[in-house]
Amino acid sequence: MFGPRFKLFKLFGFQVNVDLSWTIVFVLLSWTFAVNWFPQARPELPTATYWTMGVVTALLMFLSIVLHEVSHALVARRFGLPIRGITLFIFGGVAEMTEEPPTARSEFMVAIAGPIASIAIGGLCLALWAGGQAGGWPGPVVSIAGVLAWINISLVIFNMVPAFPLDGGRVLRSVLWQWKGNLRWATRVTAGIGSAFGLALIVIGVLRFIVGDFFGAWMALIGLFLRNAARLSYQQLLLRTALEGEPVSRFMKTDPITVPRQLSVRELVEDYFLRHHHKLYPVVDGDRLVGCATTADIKKLPREEWDRQTVGAIVQGRCEENSIAPDADAMKALATMSRGRASRLMVVDGDRLVGILTLKDLLEFFSLKMELEEAR
Ligand SMILES: [Zn+2]
Repeated sequence: MFGPRFKLFKLFGFQVNVDLSWTIVFVLLSWTFAVNWFPQARPELPTATYWTMGVVTALLMFLSIVLHEVSHALVARRFGLPIRGITLFIFGGVAEMTEEPPTARSEFMVAIAGPIASIAIGGLCLALWAGGQAGGWPGPVVSIAGVLAWINISLVIFNMVPAFPLDGGRVLRSVLWQWKGNLRWATRVTAGIGSAFGLALIVIGVLRFIVGDFFGAWMALIGLFLRNAARLSYQQLLLRTALEGEPVSRFMKTDPITVPRQLSVRELVEDYFLRHHHKLYPVVDGDRLVGCATTADIKKLPREEWDRQTVGAIVQGRCEENSIAPDADAMKALATMSRGRASRLMVVDGDRLVGILTLKDLLEFFSLKMELEEAR
């Protein structure tokens, strides 16, 4: 979902990042404020002031979104949910939770926290705008407060449409989940609304773009993103309900092919990688597991070193990214794979290699289970 990102600062212990795509939004917003909005609201000011106001407003808007996401994150942390960080990207911000809320109540509280923060910020800006007007504050300050009030309140209205995965969709999902006790059904309904809402945005956006409104293209893009996110979240949930609670040992292949550490790298390439087409091999020293060798490790070594160096020279030690315990949850294994972009993990019990887990086997089990459920 994300491209290159930059770490900005920490807030309440959460790392705030900005995705490269957000800089586009930042420039577009500053430009829209400086060229369209402020000159209309206050025609008497010099051009340089409009630009200063534009950049300041874009920065404060950025801060409003960060505070919205921090509110989600703070409540999530209270419920013990791990948060990887807060990232701003082209369509707004996201508090990256590595786990979903475990109950309808926690989902409701986490989802509603963001909109409440935005309403509070919008209300504060509205009060500043009204107070500033009455008290004769400098024009630019009053205008900026007015624009921020308008933006924060509009964002809440958009965000509270009950279309999953928007906050409103999450709120509705938690209510349906609580009501019927069926998370899958609640997700299907709200993701369906999300998908339909996305389609509506695309259609309206394209029509507006055709009649010459540039903002229409933006709407259509948001619609596409939303549709995609709704579909992915539903699939993710199906995957979770199928795999959660299943131990890794159920899916692993026992008796994996291992590589002795004394082997030369050339032999490893020719007799293992090119013969079996696996991307990872456990490396052993007699009975003892040393670690593993992957295609990425080989790429680090110049080709002319392949005959001279042994597998021992390129082996990567066993770590959380390349191994998992046999009694670990299959969903945890999947998360480990997706984090490290790996399709294979060593299954290790203590310091003994007991098997290999592949993404392919996990997904085959998943599609089989889905097929059986549809047949029911
Ligand atoms: Zn939110």
